Amino acid sequence: MSLKPPPHRERVLASGFGRASASAATTAAVSSPDHLDELIALAATTSGRALARGLGRAYGDAAQCAGGLLLDCRPLDQILEMDPARGVVRVQAGCSLRALLREIVPAGWFLPVTPGTAEVTIGGAIAADVHGKNHHRDGTFSAFVDALVLHTPTGRRNLTATDSPEQFFATVAGMGLTGVISQATVRLAPITTSKMVVETRRGADLEATMEMLERADASHHYSVAWVDGVARGRSLGRSVITLGEHAGVEDLAPPQRTRPLVPARSRSLPVPPLLPRLITAPLISAFNEAYFRRAPRRAKREVLDYPPYFYPLDALSDWNRLYGRRGFLQYQYVVPDERADVVRLVFERLIAAGQHPSLVVLKRFGPAGAAPLSFPRPGWTVAIDLAAGTENLAETLDRLDELVAAANGRVYFAKDGRLRPELVAAMYPELGRWQTTRNELDPEGLFVSDLARRLKLVAWEP
Ligand SMILES: Cc1cc2nc3c(=O)[nH]c(=O)nc-3n(C[C@H](O)[C@H](O)[C@H](O)COP(=O)(O)OP(=O)(O)OC[C@H]3O[C@@H](n4cnc5c(N)ncnc54)[C@H](O)[C@@H]3O)c2cc1C
Repeated sequence: MSLKPPPHRERVLASGFGRASASAATTAAVSSPDHLDELIALAATTSGRALARGLGRAYGDAAQCAGGLLLDCRPLDQILEMDPARGVVRVQAGCSLRALLREIVPAGWFLPVTPGTAEVTIGGAIAADVHGKNHHRDGTFSAFVDALVLHTPTGRRNLTATDSPEQFFATVAGMGLTGVISQATVRLAPITTSKMVVETRRGADLEATMEMLERADASHHYSVAWVDGVARGRSLGRSVITLGEHAGVEDLAPPQRTRPLVPARSRSLPVPPLLPRLITAPLISAFNEAYFRRAPRRAKREVLDYPPYFYPLDALSDWNRLYGRRGFLQYQYVVPDERADVVRLVFERLIAAGQHPSLVVLKRFGPAGAAPLSFPRPGWTVAIDLAAGTENLAETLDRLDELVAAANGRVYFAKDGRLRPELVAAMYPELGRWQTTRNELDPEGLFVSDLARRLKLVAWEP
Protein backbone atom coordinates (compact mmCIF):
# COMPACT_ATOMS: atom_id res chain seq x y z
CA MET A 1 0.00 0.00 0.00
CA SER A 2 1.36 3.44 -0.96
CA LEU A 3 1.87 5.94 1.84
CA LYS A 4 2.23 8.86 -0.56
CA PRO A 5 0.33 11.86 0.78
CA PRO A 6 -2.97 11.76 -1.10
CA PRO A 7 -4.24 14.88 -2.88
CA HIS A 8 -6.99 17.13 -1.56
CA ARG A 9 -5.64 17.54 1.94
CA GLU A 10 -5.94 20.95 3.52
CA ARG A 11 -5.60 22.67 6.87
CA VAL A 12 -8.93 23.65 8.39
CA LEU A 13 -10.31 25.17 11.54
CA ALA A 14 -13.08 22.69 12.34
CA SER A 15 -15.96 23.42 14.68
CA GLY A 16 -19.25 21.81 15.65
CA PHE A 17 -22.70 23.05 14.69
CA GLY A 18 -22.76 25.39 17.70
CA ARG A 19 -19.58 27.17 16.48
CA ALA A 20 -18.61 27.85 20.10
CA SER A 21 -15.10 26.36 19.78
CA ALA A 22 -12.82 25.26 16.95
CA SER A 23 -9.55 23.40 16.50
CA ALA A 24 -7.03 23.15 13.66
CA ALA A 25 -6.65 19.87 11.79
CA THR A 26 -5.80 18.55 8.34
CA THR A 27 -8.76 17.32 6.38
CA ALA A 28 -8.86 14.79 3.55
CA ALA A 29 -11.89 13.88 1.45
CA VAL A 30 -12.35 10.10 1.44
CA SER A 31 -12.98 9.06 -2.17
CA SER A 32 -13.43 5.28 -1.75
CA PRO A 33 -13.15 2.53 0.88
CA ASP A 34 -9.62 1.72 -0.41
CA HIS A 35 -8.66 5.37 -0.15
CA LEU A 36 -9.97 5.33 3.42
CA ASP A 37 -7.59 2.46 4.28
CA GLU A 38 -4.71 4.46 2.74
CA LEU A 39 -5.58 7.56 4.74
CA ILE A 40 -5.81 5.57 7.98
CA ALA A 41 -2.36 4.07 7.31
CA LEU A 42 -0.99 7.51 6.50
CA ALA A 43 -2.38 9.03 9.72
CA ALA A 44 -0.91 6.16 11.74
CA THR A 45 2.57 6.97 10.45
CA THR A 46 2.31 10.77 10.55
CA SER A 47 0.17 12.70 13.07
CA GLY A 48 -0.91 9.54 14.91
CA ARG A 49 -4.48 10.87 15.27
CA ALA A 50 -7.47 10.61 12.99
CA LEU A 51 -11.24 10.95 13.15
CA ALA A 52 -14.21 10.49 10.83
CA ARG A 53 -16.29 13.56 10.12
CA GLY A 54 -19.72 13.65 8.47
CA LEU A 55 -21.84 16.76 8.05
CA GLY A 56 -20.56 18.42 11.24
CA ARG A 57 -23.98 18.47 12.94
CA ALA A 58 -22.69 17.42 16.35
CA TYR A 59 -23.07 20.65 18.34
CA GLY A 60 -19.81 20.59 20.31
CA ASP A 61 -16.34 19.10 19.73
CA ALA A 62 -17.22 15.48 18.86
CA ALA A 63 -16.20 15.87 15.20
CA GLN A 64 -13.02 17.88 15.88
CA CYS A 65 -9.52 16.34 16.03
CA ALA A 66 -6.91 18.96 16.97
CA GLY A 67 -3.61 18.34 15.18
CA GLY A 68 -4.88 15.18 13.49
CA LEU A 69 -6.38 14.04 10.20
CA LEU A 70 -10.12 14.58 9.77
CA LEU A 71 -11.48 11.99 7.37
CA ASP A 72 -14.25 13.77 5.50
CA CYS A 73 -16.66 10.95 4.69
CA ARG A 74 -19.15 13.02 2.66
CA PRO A 75 -17.89 11.78 -0.75
CA LEU A 76 -18.82 8.21 0.28
CA ASP A 77 -22.42 9.01 -0.61
CA GLN A 78 -23.65 6.12 -2.76
CA ILE A 79 -26.72 4.01 -2.20
CA LEU A 80 -25.15 0.64 -3.02
CA GLU A 81 -28.22 -1.58 -2.99
CA MET A 82 -31.92 -1.15 -2.36
CA ASP A 83 -34.39 -3.99 -1.92
CA PRO A 84 -37.70 -2.21 -2.55
CA ALA A 85 -39.73 -5.28 -1.61
CA ARG A 86 -38.17 -5.80 1.84
CA GLY A 87 -37.23 -2.18 2.53
CA VAL A 88 -33.56 -2.87 3.18
CA VAL A 89 -30.89 -0.51 1.95
CA ARG A 90 -27.09 -0.84 1.83
CA VAL A 91 -25.68 2.64 1.82
CA GLN A 92 -22.29 4.34 2.11
CA ALA A 93 -21.69 6.14 5.39
CA GLY A 94 -21.31 9.63 3.93
CA CYS A 95 -24.79 9.58 2.38
CA SER A 96 -27.02 12.17 4.08
CA LEU A 97 -30.43 11.31 5.44
CA ARG A 98 -31.81 13.94 3.05
CA ALA A 99 -30.31 12.18 0.00
CA LEU A 100 -31.50 8.79 1.21
CA LEU A 101 -35.05 10.07 1.82
CA ARG A 102 -35.13 11.44 -1.73
CA GLU A 103 -34.73 7.86 -3.02
CA ILE A 104 -36.71 5.82 -0.50
CA VAL A 105 -39.85 7.92 0.05
CA PRO A 106 -41.14 7.59 -3.55
CA ALA A 107 -40.57 3.82 -3.20
CA GLY A 108 -42.82 3.69 -0.10
CA TRP A 109 -40.19 3.61 2.64
CA PHE A 110 -39.08 5.97 5.41
CA LEU A 111 -36.21 6.19 7.88
CA PRO A 112 -37.01 4.02 10.91
CA VAL A 113 -35.56 6.74 13.19
CA THR A 114 -34.61 10.29 12.28
CA PRO A 115 -33.09 13.16 14.23
CA GLY A 116 -34.44 16.72 13.95
CA THR A 117 -32.36 17.51 10.86
CA ALA A 118 -31.89 15.56 7.63
CA GLU A 119 -28.41 17.08 7.22
CA VAL A 120 -26.78 14.16 9.03
CA THR A 121 -24.79 11.32 7.45
CA ILE A 122 -25.52 7.62 7.98
CA GLY A 123 -22.09 7.33 9.67
CA GLY A 124 -22.89 10.22 12.02
CA ALA A 125 -26.32 8.74 12.80
CA ILE A 126 -24.73 5.41 13.80
CA ALA A 127 -21.75 6.94 15.63
CA ALA A 128 -24.12 8.97 17.86
CA ASP A 129 -26.88 6.29 17.84
CA VAL A 130 -29.38 9.05 17.17
CA HIS A 131 -32.96 9.13 18.43
CA GLY A 132 -36.08 10.76 17.09
CA LYS A 133 -39.64 11.68 18.01
CA ASN A 134 -40.54 7.95 18.04
CA HIS A 135 -37.95 6.83 20.61
CA HIS A 136 -40.68 5.80 23.07
CA ARG A 137 -41.84 3.23 20.49
CA ASP A 138 -38.92 2.33 18.27
CA GLY A 139 -35.67 3.07 20.11
CA THR A 140 -32.55 4.42 18.45
CA PHE A 141 -31.15 4.25 14.91
CA SER A 142 -28.90 1.27 15.66
CA ALA A 143 -31.93 -0.95 16.34
CA PHE A 144 -32.43 -0.92 12.55
CA VAL A 145 -28.80 -1.41 11.46
CA ASP A 146 -28.31 -5.01 10.31
CA ALA A 147 -24.61 -4.70 9.47
CA LEU A 148 -21.81 -2.18 9.07
CA VAL A 149 -18.29 -2.09 7.70
CA LEU A 150 -15.70 -0.60 10.06
CA HIS A 151 -12.19 0.44 8.97
CA THR A 152 -9.51 0.35 11.66
CA PRO A 153 -5.68 0.45 11.56
CA THR A 154 -5.74 -3.35 11.78
CA GLY A 155 -8.07 -3.83 8.82
CA ARG A 156 -11.71 -3.85 7.73
CA ARG A 157 -14.39 -5.68 9.66
CA ASN A 158 -17.97 -6.59 8.84
CA LEU A 159 -19.87 -6.12 12.07
CA THR A 160 -23.35 -7.31 13.04
CA ALA A 161 -25.22 -7.28 16.33
CA THR A 162 -25.35 -11.08 16.39
CA ASP A 163 -21.91 -12.16 15.08
CA SER A 164 -19.76 -9.47 16.73
CA PRO A 165 -21.94 -7.85 19.41
CA GLU A 166 -19.20 -6.21 21.50
CA GLN A 167 -17.55 -4.56 18.49
CA PHE A 168 -20.84 -3.67 16.83
CA PHE A 169 -22.26 -2.02 19.97
CA ALA A 170 -18.97 -0.28 20.79
CA THR A 171 -19.09 1.33 17.34
CA VAL A 172 -22.75 2.27 17.67
CA ALA A 173 -22.73 5.45 19.83
CA GLY A 174 -18.92 5.14 19.82
CA MET A 175 -18.56 8.70 18.44
CA GLY A 176 -16.04 7.65 15.77
CA LEU A 177 -13.57 6.34 18.35
CA THR A 178 -13.53 2.69 17.26
CA GLY A 179 -12.75 3.45 13.59
CA VAL A 180 -14.47 4.73 10.46
CA ILE A 181 -17.74 3.27 9.18
CA SER A 182 -17.77 3.10 5.37
CA GLN A 183 -21.19 1.51 4.81
CA ALA A 184 -24.23 0.16 6.63
CA THR A 185 -27.26 -2.00 5.93
CA VAL A 186 -30.39 -0.38 7.30
CA ARG A 187 -33.96 -1.68 7.63
CA LEU A 188 -36.54 0.94 6.61
CA ALA A 189 -40.11 1.59 7.73
CA PRO A 190 -43.02 1.21 5.28
CA ILE A 191 -45.20 4.22 4.40
CA THR A 192 -48.12 4.65 2.02
CA THR A 193 -47.85 8.44 1.65
CA SER A 194 -45.16 11.10 2.11
CA LYS A 195 -47.47 13.04 4.46
CA MET A 196 -47.97 13.18 8.20
CA VAL A 197 -51.17 13.58 10.20
CA VAL A 198 -50.19 16.03 12.91
CA GLU A 199 -52.16 16.92 16.01
CA THR A 200 -51.11 20.16 17.72
CA ARG A 201 -52.23 21.40 21.13
CA ARG A 202 -51.09 23.67 23.93
CA GLY A 203 -49.78 22.51 27.29
CA ALA A 204 -50.68 25.19 29.86
CA ASP A 205 -47.76 24.39 32.18
CA LEU A 206 -45.09 21.76 32.81
CA GLU A 207 -47.41 19.35 34.60
CA ALA A 208 -49.98 19.43 31.79
CA THR A 209 -47.24 19.05 29.19
CA MET A 210 -45.69 16.01 30.86
CA GLU A 211 -49.07 14.42 31.40
CA MET A 212 -49.98 14.77 27.72
CA LEU A 213 -46.62 13.37 26.57
CA GLU A 214 -47.00 10.40 28.92
CA ARG A 215 -50.43 9.66 27.48
CA ALA A 216 -49.07 9.98 23.94
CA ASP A 217 -46.64 7.09 24.60
CA ALA A 218 -49.51 4.68 24.03
CA SER A 219 -51.49 6.59 21.45
CA HIS A 220 -49.01 8.12 19.01
CA HIS A 221 -46.05 7.04 16.92
CA TYR A 222 -44.29 10.41 17.20
CA SER A 223 -44.49 12.91 20.05
CA VAL A 224 -42.55 15.95 21.21
CA ALA A 225 -43.14 19.25 23.01
CA TRP A 226 -41.69 22.65 22.22
CA VAL A 227 -41.37 24.35 25.61
CA ASP A 228 -41.31 28.08 26.33
CA GLY A 229 -37.98 28.13 28.18
CA VAL A 230 -38.41 31.66 29.50
CA ALA A 231 -41.98 31.37 30.88
CA ARG A 232 -41.98 31.48 34.67
CA GLY A 233 -44.37 31.21 37.62
CA ARG A 234 -47.60 29.39 36.84
CA SER A 235 -46.68 29.30 33.13
CA LEU A 236 -43.35 27.56 33.66
CA GLY A 237 -43.08 24.72 31.18
CA ARG A 238 -45.96 25.86 28.96
CA SER A 239 -45.67 24.22 25.60
CA VAL A 240 -46.87 23.38 22.15
CA ILE A 241 -47.18 19.62 21.77
CA THR A 242 -47.14 17.92 18.38
CA LEU A 243 -48.20 14.31 17.94
CA GLY A 244 -47.71 12.63 14.60
CA GLU A 245 -48.53 9.57 12.53
CA HIS A 246 -47.68 8.70 8.94
CA ALA A 247 -50.75 9.57 6.89
CA GLY A 248 -52.65 6.93 4.96
CA VAL A 249 -54.02 7.65 1.48
CA GLU A 250 -57.49 8.15 3.02
CA ASP A 251 -56.11 11.09 5.05
CA LEU A 252 -55.13 13.04 1.94
CA ALA A 253 -57.23 15.56 0.03
CA PRO A 254 -58.55 13.98 -3.23
CA PRO A 255 -56.07 15.81 -5.55
CA GLN A 256 -53.14 14.47 -3.52
CA ARG A 257 -54.32 10.85 -3.66
CA THR A 258 -53.11 10.26 -7.21
CA ARG A 259 -49.42 10.65 -6.25
CA PRO A 260 -49.41 10.01 -2.48
CA LEU A 261 -45.67 9.35 -2.18
CA VAL A 262 -44.50 12.55 -3.88
CA PRO A 263 -43.75 15.30 -1.35
CA ALA A 264 -44.15 18.96 -2.28
CA ARG A 265 -40.85 20.62 -3.20
CA SER A 266 -39.16 22.16 -0.18
CA ARG A 267 -36.58 24.91 -0.41
CA SER A 268 -34.32 26.26 2.29
CA LEU A 269 -33.39 29.92 2.67
CA PRO A 270 -29.73 30.68 3.35
CA VAL A 271 -28.55 32.79 6.31
CA PRO A 272 -25.57 35.03 5.39
CA PRO A 273 -22.23 34.61 7.22
CA LEU A 274 -20.67 37.15 9.61
CA LEU A 275 -23.91 38.27 11.22
CA PRO A 276 -23.90 39.81 14.71
CA ARG A 277 -25.83 37.86 17.38
CA LEU A 278 -29.46 38.24 16.29
CA ILE A 279 -31.00 35.82 18.78
CA THR A 280 -31.32 38.07 21.82
CA ALA A 281 -33.30 37.82 25.09
CA PRO A 282 -36.11 40.25 24.03
CA LEU A 283 -36.48 38.47 20.69
CA ILE A 284 -36.71 35.06 22.39
CA SER A 285 -39.42 36.30 24.79
CA ALA A 286 -41.44 37.88 21.98
CA PHE A 287 -41.11 34.83 19.72
CA ASN A 288 -42.10 32.41 22.49
CA GLU A 289 -45.16 34.44 23.45
CA ALA A 290 -46.33 34.59 19.84
CA TYR A 291 -45.58 30.92 19.15
CA PHE A 292 -47.48 29.76 22.22
CA ARG A 293 -50.48 32.06 21.52
CA ARG A 294 -50.65 30.98 17.88
CA ALA A 295 -51.02 27.31 18.88
CA PRO A 296 -54.60 26.07 19.17
CA ARG A 297 -56.13 25.73 22.67
CA ARG A 298 -58.03 22.65 21.55
CA ALA A 299 -56.27 19.91 19.61
CA LYS A 300 -56.00 20.73 15.90
CA ARG A 301 -55.40 18.07 13.27
CA GLU A 302 -53.73 18.78 9.91
CA VAL A 303 -51.91 16.93 7.15
CA LEU A 304 -48.32 18.09 6.53
CA ASP A 305 -45.51 17.03 4.23
CA TYR A 306 -42.85 15.08 6.09
CA PRO A 307 -40.06 17.75 5.85
CA PRO A 308 -41.85 20.55 7.77
CA TYR A 309 -42.91 18.00 10.41
CA PHE A 310 -39.58 16.28 10.98
CA TYR A 311 -37.15 19.01 9.89
CA PRO A 312 -38.66 22.47 10.47
CA LEU A 313 -35.24 23.99 11.21
CA ASP A 314 -33.83 22.80 7.88
CA ALA A 315 -36.02 25.45 6.17
CA LEU A 316 -33.31 27.97 7.09
CA SER A 317 -29.88 26.68 6.13
CA ASP A 318 -26.97 27.77 8.36
CA TRP A 319 -29.39 29.10 10.99
CA ASN A 320 -26.60 28.54 13.54
CA ARG A 321 -25.09 31.80 12.19
CA LEU A 322 -27.94 33.72 13.86
CA TYR A 323 -26.03 33.34 17.15
CA GLY A 324 -23.14 35.47 15.85
CA ARG A 325 -19.42 34.95 16.27
CA ARG A 326 -19.53 33.38 19.74
CA GLY A 327 -21.97 30.68 18.73
CA PHE A 328 -24.28 28.66 20.95
CA LEU A 329 -24.53 25.33 22.69
CA GLN A 330 -27.18 22.76 23.31
CA TYR A 331 -27.59 21.22 26.74
CA GLN A 332 -29.39 17.89 26.32
CA TYR A 333 -29.89 15.61 29.28
CA VAL A 334 -32.07 12.64 30.22
CA VAL A 335 -33.34 11.68 33.68
CA PRO A 336 -35.29 8.56 34.71
CA ASP A 337 -39.04 8.72 35.42
CA GLU A 338 -38.52 8.58 39.18
CA ARG A 339 -36.53 11.83 38.95
CA ALA A 340 -38.94 13.70 36.68
CA ASP A 341 -38.73 16.51 39.27
CA VAL A 342 -35.30 17.40 37.80
CA VAL A 343 -37.02 18.74 34.67
CA ARG A 344 -38.69 21.53 36.70
CA LEU A 345 -35.54 22.15 38.76
CA VAL A 346 -33.44 22.67 35.62
CA PHE A 347 -35.89 25.25 34.23
CA GLU A 348 -36.01 27.04 37.58
CA ARG A 349 -32.23 27.16 37.90
CA LEU A 350 -31.73 28.47 34.37
CA ILE A 351 -34.28 31.22 35.02
CA ALA A 352 -32.70 32.05 38.41
CA ALA A 353 -29.29 32.33 36.69
CA GLY A 354 -30.71 34.83 34.19
CA GLN A 355 -30.37 32.50 31.21
CA HIS A 356 -32.60 32.79 28.14
CA PRO A 357 -32.95 29.42 26.44
CA SER A 358 -33.76 30.09 22.80
CA LEU A 359 -35.21 26.70 21.88
CA VAL A 360 -36.32 23.96 24.26
CA VAL A 361 -37.62 20.52 23.34
CA LEU A 362 -39.04 17.96 25.80
CA LYS A 363 -39.60 14.32 24.96
CA ARG A 364 -40.13 10.94 26.59
CA PHE A 365 -37.68 8.13 25.96
CA GLY A 366 -38.56 4.43 25.90
CA PRO A 367 -36.27 1.49 26.70
CA ALA A 368 -32.49 1.87 26.27
CA GLY A 369 -30.56 0.09 23.50
CA ALA A 370 -27.62 -2.28 23.93
CA ALA A 371 -24.72 0.08 23.13
CA PRO A 372 -22.68 1.03 26.24
CA LEU A 373 -22.40 4.71 25.24
CA SER A 374 -25.88 5.15 23.80
CA PHE A 375 -27.49 8.24 25.31
CA PRO A 376 -31.21 7.40 25.59
CA ARG A 377 -32.54 5.64 28.67
CA PRO A 378 -36.16 5.48 29.82
CA GLY A 379 -37.47 8.77 31.17
CA TRP A 380 -37.45 12.43 30.18
CA THR A 381 -35.04 14.19 27.86
CA VAL A 382 -34.77 17.95 27.42
CA ALA A 383 -32.68 19.74 24.77
CA ILE A 384 -32.00 23.40 25.56
CA ASP A 385 -30.30 25.85 23.16
CA LEU A 386 -28.35 28.65 24.85
CA ALA A 387 -26.19 31.45 23.44
CA ALA A 388 -22.54 30.73 24.32
CA GLY A 389 -20.40 32.93 26.52
CA THR A 390 -23.12 34.60 28.57
CA GLU A 391 -22.62 35.51 32.23
CA ASN A 392 -22.99 32.60 34.70
CA LEU A 393 -23.54 30.05 31.94
CA ALA A 394 -20.52 27.81 32.61
CA GLU A 395 -21.11 27.64 36.40
CA THR A 396 -24.86 27.13 35.97
CA LEU A 397 -24.39 24.20 33.58
CA ASP A 398 -21.71 22.67 35.81
CA ARG A 399 -24.24 22.62 38.67
CA LEU A 400 -26.91 21.17 36.37
CA ASP A 401 -24.51 18.38 35.33
CA GLU A 402 -24.13 17.46 39.00
CA LEU A 403 -27.91 17.47 39.47
CA VAL A 404 -28.42 15.28 36.39
CA ALA A 405 -25.63 12.83 37.38
CA ALA A 406 -27.01 12.53 40.94
CA ALA A 407 -30.41 11.68 39.43
CA ASN A 408 -28.86 8.79 37.42
CA GLY A 409 -29.19 10.86 34.29
CA ARG A 410 -26.67 11.81 31.63
CA VAL A 411 -25.85 14.41 29.01
CA TYR A 412 -25.61 13.62 25.30
CA PHE A 413 -22.08 13.49 23.81
CA ALA A 414 -23.36 14.48 20.34
CA LYS A 415 -24.50 17.81 21.77
CA ASP A 416 -21.76 18.36 24.33
CA GLY A 417 -18.78 20.72 24.22
CA ARG A 418 -18.23 21.49 27.89
CA LEU A 419 -18.95 18.62 30.36
CA ARG A 420 -16.19 17.87 32.90
CA PRO A 421 -14.59 14.39 32.82
CA GLU A 422 -15.26 13.61 36.52
CA LEU A 423 -18.97 12.99 35.89
CA VAL A 424 -18.68 10.76 32.82
CA ALA A 425 -18.29 7.44 34.64
CA ALA A 426 -21.40 8.16 36.75
CA MET A 427 -23.41 9.16 33.70
CA TYR A 428 -22.17 6.26 31.54
CA PRO A 429 -21.59 3.31 33.93
CA GLU A 430 -20.61 0.99 31.05
CA LEU A 431 -17.74 3.23 29.96
CA GLY A 432 -15.11 0.68 31.14
CA ARG A 433 -16.67 -2.12 29.06
CA TRP A 434 -16.72 0.16 26.01
CA GLN A 435 -13.06 1.15 26.57
CA THR A 436 -11.94 -2.51 26.62
CA THR A 437 -13.51 -3.19 23.21
CA ARG A 438 -12.35 0.12 21.83
CA ASN A 439 -8.75 -0.66 22.82
CA GLU A 440 -8.99 -4.03 21.05
CA LEU A 441 -10.25 -2.37 17.85
CA ASP A 442 -7.75 0.50 17.93
CA PRO A 443 -4.80 -0.67 20.08
CA GLU A 444 -2.57 2.28 19.14
CA GLY A 445 -5.28 4.82 19.95
CA LEU A 446 -5.32 6.39 16.50
CA PHE A 447 -8.92 7.54 16.64
CA VAL A 448 -9.38 10.46 18.93
CA SER A 449 -11.56 13.57 19.06
CA ASP A 450 -11.44 16.79 21.05
CA LEU A 451 -14.49 15.46 22.95
CA ALA A 452 -12.69 12.19 23.76
CA ARG A 453 -9.62 14.03 25.08
CA ARG A 454 -11.63 16.50 27.13
CA LEU A 455 -13.78 13.78 28.70
CA LYS A 456 -10.92 11.27 28.97
CA LEU A 457 -12.98 8.69 27.09
CA VAL A 458 -9.73 7.28 25.71
CA ALA A 459 -6.21 7.21 27.12
CA TRP A 460 -4.47 10.15 25.54
CA GLU A 461 -0.80 11.14 25.38
CA PRO A 462 -0.03 14.41 23.58
C1 LIG B 1 -30.63 20.91 14.12
C2 LIG B 1 -30.14 19.61 14.70
C3 LIG B 1 -31.07 18.71 15.22
C4 LIG B 1 -30.62 17.51 15.77
N1 LIG B 1 -31.55 16.65 16.28
C5 LIG B 1 -31.17 15.49 16.83
C6 LIG B 1 -32.13 14.56 17.33
O1 LIG B 1 -33.34 14.82 17.29
N2 LIG B 1 -31.67 13.38 17.85
C7 LIG B 1 -30.34 13.07 17.88
O2 LIG B 1 -30.00 11.98 18.36
N3 LIG B 1 -29.40 13.93 17.40
C8 LIG B 1 -29.79 15.12 16.89
N4 LIG B 1 -28.86 15.99 16.38
C9 LIG B 1 -27.43 15.61 16.47
C10 LIG B 1 -26.95 14.84 15.22
O3 LIG B 1 -27.91 13.92 14.79
C11 LIG B 1 -25.68 14.06 15.57
O4 LIG B 1 -24.71 14.92 16.10
C12 LIG B 1 -25.06 13.31 14.37
O5 LIG B 1 -24.00 12.53 14.86
C13 LIG B 1 -24.53 14.27 13.32
O6 LIG B 1 -24.10 13.55 12.17
P1 LIG B 1 -23.00 14.14 11.20
O7 LIG B 1 -23.02 13.36 9.95
O8 LIG B 1 -23.20 15.62 11.06
O9 LIG B 1 -21.68 13.82 12.01
P2 LIG B 1 -20.54 14.77 12.58
O10 LIG B 1 -21.15 15.87 13.37
O11 LIG B 1 -19.62 15.16 11.50
O12 LIG B 1 -19.82 13.74 13.57
C14 LIG B 1 -20.48 13.34 14.77
C15 LIG B 1 -19.76 12.12 15.35
O13 LIG B 1 -19.92 11.02 14.46
C16 LIG B 1 -18.65 10.48 14.11
N5 LIG B 1 -18.75 10.02 12.72
C17 LIG B 1 -19.21 10.72 11.65
N6 LIG B 1 -19.13 9.96 10.55
C18 LIG B 1 -18.61 8.77 10.91
C19 LIG B 1 -18.23 7.57 10.21
N7 LIG B 1 -18.41 7.44 8.89
N8 LIG B 1 -17.69 6.56 10.92
C20 LIG B 1 -17.50 6.66 12.26
N9 LIG B 1 -17.82 7.76 12.97
C21 LIG B 1 -18.37 8.80 12.30
C22 LIG B 1 -17.66 11.64 14.28
O14 LIG B 1 -16.35 11.17 14.51
C23 LIG B 1 -18.25 12.34 15.50
O15 LIG B 1 -17.83 11.74 16.68
C24 LIG B 1 -29.23 17.19 15.82
C25 LIG B 1 -28.31 18.10 15.29
C26 LIG B 1 -28.76 19.29 14.73
C27 LIG B 1 -27.75 20.27 14.17
